[in-house]
Amino acid sequence: PYDGPRLAEIARKRAEFLSPSLFHFYDRPLNIVDGKMQYLFDEDGRRYLDAFGGIATVCCGHCHPDVIEAIVNQAKKIQHSTVLYLNHAIADFAEALASKMPGDLKVVFFTNSGTEANELALMIARLYTGSHDIISLRNGYHGNAAATMGATAQCNWKFNIVQTGVHHALNPDPYRGAFGSDGPKYAKDIQETIEYGTTGRVAGFISEAIQGVGGIVELAPGYLPAAYKMVRDAGGLCIADEVQAGVARTGSHFWGFEGQGVIPDIVTMAKGIGNGMPIGAVVTTPEIAQVLTRRSYFNTFGGNPVSTAAGHAVLKVLEKEKLQENAFVVGSYLKEQLNMLKEKHNIIGDVRGRGLLLGVELVTDHQKKTPAKAEITQVMNHMKDMGVLVGKGGFYGNVFRVTPPLCFTKEDSDFFIEVMDIALSKL
Ligand code: PMP
Repeated sequence: PYDGPRLAEIARKRAEFLSPSLFHFYDRPLNIVDGKMQYLFDEDGRRYLDAFGGIATVCCGHCHPDVIEAIVNQAKKIQHSTVLYLNHAIADFAEALASKMPGDLKVVFFTNSGTEANELALMIARLYTGSHDIISLRNGYHGNAAATMGATAQCNWKFNIVQTGVHHALNPDPYRGAFGSDGPKYAKDIQETIEYGTTGRVAGFISEAIQGVGGIVELAPGYLPAAYKMVRDAGGLCIADEVQAGVARTGSHFWGFEGQGVIPDIVTMAKGIGNGMPIGAVVTTPEIAQVLTRRSYFNTFGGNPVSTAAGHAVLKVLEKEKLQENAFVVGSYLKEQLNMLKEKHNIIGDVRGRGLLLGVELVTDHQKKTPAKAEITQVMNHMKDMGVLVGKGGFYGNVFRVTPPLCFTKEDSDFFIEVMDIALSKL
């Protein structure tokens, strides 16, 4: 399946020297060597429209010149010292990030990844409340270390962990859930989980506003306000995992949770905030942040000047290029076009999401919602051959994840739709 000697060589090295658990999406994998804004280029210079954005990670565009400039300038000055010395890059970015937050959320802890951010958030909730139990949503993804793998609620991503004090509540999934779009009805399961699964007191609740890995599932309207109230009444903190839904991607709001009109106690982020540079963050209130003064909390690379310079540049680019607005305008247009494709192709069971965080679920039977697993792979491969890369996910792996860089245009959307239309017609 490998065209050309370089692909074959990479595949051989990967098989011999890299993790056997690595996988790729395509029958004939790609060797991607360059990226520019919403495009990727393979070793032969072939251009692909990137509708996956490094899994919702590249927000400003691949190798955005302003972000690159910030990285290079900072790397030439100082790449690392420790947070024990003072440095502008980290302080300026923390201030800029805090200014994007509602309420009293203004103290920032920097990490290197989403997993680390969520691990820290869960620990803070446990420290602050003195309780241990955490509630997360079924079908959620929060990371791959001990606590976050526990909070992740898909068997696909769980290894042999000891899952103490984690409870997975009913997912308010408008497409597959039992109560349709009735958010408050699903939230009753939070109350029951607290009453029947814990001492009645909990440390916290963590959820995405739109589940990314879970297949772009937007929580039923009204769910978070009801759930947050129940969790807070039981003494818990509410954590918003904004790793995929945050940083302007949903278009309507800068943060995903704002779409449900709530203010969390702790917000975590990663991916988009660095546009590809490894950086994550936890933002909370000054009062809650105090718990980490009880011991020493330290992270060697968290908040290093190069990553924070990149993060700060990302915020400036989002503003300068009005990328949130673009995500809203282009995302709404693309969603409309996808809904028109749904009318044409019976295999599309659902189109959902917001802004440039969209999902297209393929099913072979609308009534039974039978996942079209083989078909989605076929369509993805065809789309790649026609020059469009898209992601997939969901518990059954039958949902297209459309999460391009936020500089995606209407013309890109038209091309995407045309290519998906042809690929679906070939089924
Ligand atoms: N939370 C969410 C919502 C995610 O999608 C991911 C990554 N897919 C994570 C947390 C973990 O982030 P990382 O891979 O940077 O550890």
